[in-house]
Amino acid sequence: MEIDDIETIAVLGAGNMGHGIAEVAALSGYSVNLRDIEEEFVQNGYEQIEWSLEKLAEGDQISDEEAETALDRVTPYVDIEASVEDADFVIEAVPEKMAIKKDVYGDVEEYLPEHAIIATNTSSLSITELSEETERPEQFCGMHFFNPPVRMQLVEVISGGHTAAETLEVTEALAEELGKTPVRVRKDSPGFIVNRILVPLMNEGCWIVSEDAATIEEVDSTAKYDMGLPMGIFELGDQVGNDVTLHVLEYMNEVLGEAYEPAPLLEETIEAEHYGKKTGKGFYDYEDGEGATFPEDAGSETIETRLIALMANEVGNLVGNDVSDPAAIDEAVMLGAGFPDGPAAMADTAGLGELIETLESLHEKTGHSRFEVADGLQAAANAGGFHSDD
Ligand code: NAD
Repeated sequence: MEIDDIETIAVLGAGNMGHGIAEVAALSGYSVNLRDIEEEFVQNGYEQIEWSLEKLAEGDQISDEEAETALDRVTPYVDIEASVEDADFVIEAVPEKMAIKKDVYGDVEEYLPEHAIIATNTSSLSITELSEETERPEQFCGMHFFNPPVRMQLVEVISGGHTAAETLEVTEALAEELGKTPVRVRKDSPGFIVNRILVPLMNEGCWIVSEDAATIEEVDSTAKYDMGLPMGIFELGDQVGNDVTLHVLEYMNEVLGEAYEPAPLLEETIEAEHYGKKTGKGFYDYEDGEGATFPEDAGSETIETRLIALMANEVGNLVGNDVSDPAAIDEAVMLGAGFPDGPAAMADTAGLGELIETLESLHEKTGHSRFEVADGLQAAANAGGFHSDD
């Protein structure tokens, strides 16, 4: 199949992500079948698209006519057969449960044309395992949009163990047609790229506080004001949802090993049901306190070096295992997490030699496997930096 063969896209699930993806596809001229399990849910998604298109028109980002035409391209469905029988491409955005996704694929494939590709928007499940629940594992891949899809530029396009090259090419071309920037994730690996950097970074913030090496405010001041990240690490955790972070981390822990052991502070926060902004309390108190507030000048160089060293090690893992390369990792993290510089570039600036020394001394002190220097980081240091051959 080629990109020009795609006319109709079926988006399964009209929730947070599904309605946003459907809106983006309709704005790009595709005919969109939006499906959810109950009339009320799909209608709600449709109304959210309508609301969002109105906002875009009010802000003069699109004309009233474009908003109307885009909405006309979206058809809400509950009936599974009608929603996929004419689809050339399926984007699945149903809840993050393996069992639900598997059921959906079974239902969909009864009616889906043979040429159609199925892409999943999963954040953390195995693309290979999901693909094996379909009769078309070669025509199956990950297409990971970021929230909210209308505003976020990045789409991670993930190869499962059986995905054909053509499937990845068409999916990337589709992401471009939707006005997005695709970044290829060459192997199905937990957290893909952006979460593989962010989630261990958040966990490291928690380890630092659990060890009494710094306070939450000091870590966040370092991250935001010294490293120039868009917000503090704990502030970000509260925004994403600490339950979501722990869920992804536990999956990494299961698949990749003990280096991804959740820090005590993260587990305690979840036990206390402090999931973040959405529940009023997380690492910060949004209900009775002032939310994520911390001073501008409470940062420390030791913490900064430790956080950059941790990220450099993750970049080393991704590169060493051929999941991605430094340029793609930097692009993904800048677009997906709003970093001013990517983690590989930040590591190069800090000096890979110094970062390796930091990891080695932390390893000596704690014995924890997350400080073992990744082969990919050592190789990059030997070569003169992650970006030495750019
Ligand atoms: P959500 O709960 O907001 O929406 C899921 C929708 O799917 C619900 O409306 C539900 O009724 C519907 N649904 C359930 N079973 C269905 C079926 N059989 N067919 C069609 N629809 C069905 O969830 P969400 O946040 O939109 O997440 C969807 C997917 O996107 C998950 O895999 C999630 O991991 C991933 N994701 C989420 C985010 C995020 O920030 N929320 C970001 C990237 C990826």
